[in-house]
Amino acid sequence: PGHKKLNITQMAYQGLTTTYAADSFITDSAAAGTALSSGYKTNSGVIAMDPSKTKPYETVAEIAKKSGMKVGIVSSVSIDHATPACFYAHEPSRKNYHEIGMQLAVSDFDYFAGGGLKKPVSPDGKTDAYKVAEENGFTVTRTREDFLALKPGVGKVFAVSPELDADKALNYAIDGQTLTLGEFTRKGIELLDGPQGFFMMIEGGKIDWSCHANDAVTTIKDTLAFDEAVAAGLEFAARHPEETLVVVTGDHETGGLTIGFAGTEYSTYLDYLGGQTMSFIAFDKVLDEYRKNTSLGDARLEDLKEEIEKAFGLVILGDDERKRLDLLAANGDTKAEERLYFSLTEEELREVEKAFVRSMNKEEEKAGDKETYLIYGGYEPLTVTLTHTLNNKAGFAWTTYAHTGVPVPTFAQGVGADQFTGYYDNTDIGKMLISAVGARALTASR
Ligand SMILES: [Zn+2]
Repeated sequence: PGHKKLNITQMAYQGLTTTYAADSFITDSAAAGTALSSGYKTNSGVIAMDPSKTKPYETVAEIAKKSGMKVGIVSSVSIDHATPACFYAHEPSRKNYHEIGMQLAVSDFDYFAGGGLKKPVSPDGKTDAYKVAEENGFTVTRTREDFLALKPGVGKVFAVSPELDADKALNYAIDGQTLTLGEFTRKGIELLDGPQGFFMMIEGGKIDWSCHANDAVTTIKDTLAFDEAVAAGLEFAARHPEETLVVVTGDHETGGLTIGFAGTEYSTYLDYLGGQTMSFIAFDKVLDEYRKNTSLGDARLEDLKEEIEKAFGLVILGDDERKRLDLLAANGDTKAEERLYFSLTEEELREVEKAFVRSMNKEEEKAGDKETYLIYGGYEPLTVTLTHTLNNKAGFAWTTYAHTGVPVPTFAQGVGADQFTGYYDNTDIGKMLISAVGARALTASR
């Protein structure tokens, strides 16, 4: 009761997929994206080229386009980020954001949507990828109204989220979005659908970012948002069962998130997670504001206790308040009991106090020695300590602020989905997608 399966996990076929790069057991998104888009291994950091960075790999999206299908690329992170780039660009480095953006701008693909471009303007200021995209026939939309007005026949579209974060990505779902990944996906299907068929890649890219930051609740909410995009794909597949393949996979695991923490052993307390109302990045802004308006000598954790409770549901109690609540709870006061349940233990409070001091001393912490990195991962010390505390209370734990080398689950439904059963490599997914697109092109030409 009260439990609902994800659309993803209800798909008909499942497999396990290895994700290693040519040069590392733990891949980055460029090497993993290249494997999924082209069927070839490359080194971390390389966008759809071989490890020597000289030979471009043809991608499933390019093959689809060449064989007459329409093509869409959607992501919740910036559209020039490694994963989406691996489907339309070829660059020796994922960091060549301007060059990647320019390849998007001159692309013959039909639909780009979600995040924006990180470096639209060339270093000399003369070329703007957004302008070049418009010159190349793209309709660029930046408002909900213009986006919703897009109708089949509009031609090539580059739909940018009305609000973008500092990295040109969508907001986290938990923080509210004017347009969701599900809406970008549904619109893509509406615009690309036709007798010629289409290929679309949709990435829930910010799931990775909140895992880097070890924020489980934000990750769960973005996963649910991605599941909405999957629902859109599955609904289309249900209407066209003879000619649609839907594949869902991860390019890699991030953070080493597990259900299970040393401090909680065999128990979980998922109700703690319900108290979080904003992402780590939204709380960083609250903290930033406080830091700007408070001198180091005046700063006290006490000042932020209401903000912390509002953001994470965690209650900071003074000794007297705790005694008072203990008494009330002993007499059956359930409100008091609940506040005690969500309160920080003495040990937890000590760690949070320590992190608060570190966060307030921001400038001095920049050095980032190994020990500091292990505890805070380069994130805002107070915020990451709060998400760690909340996650650990719930019985969740993290092992890293980077990716891991564990295999990821892959799900498939539709034509040829049974091939996605078993234990295989991410390059096999690329190869199977390419053969599916080839088969579709053959059918269409008959
Ligand atoms: Zn990542």
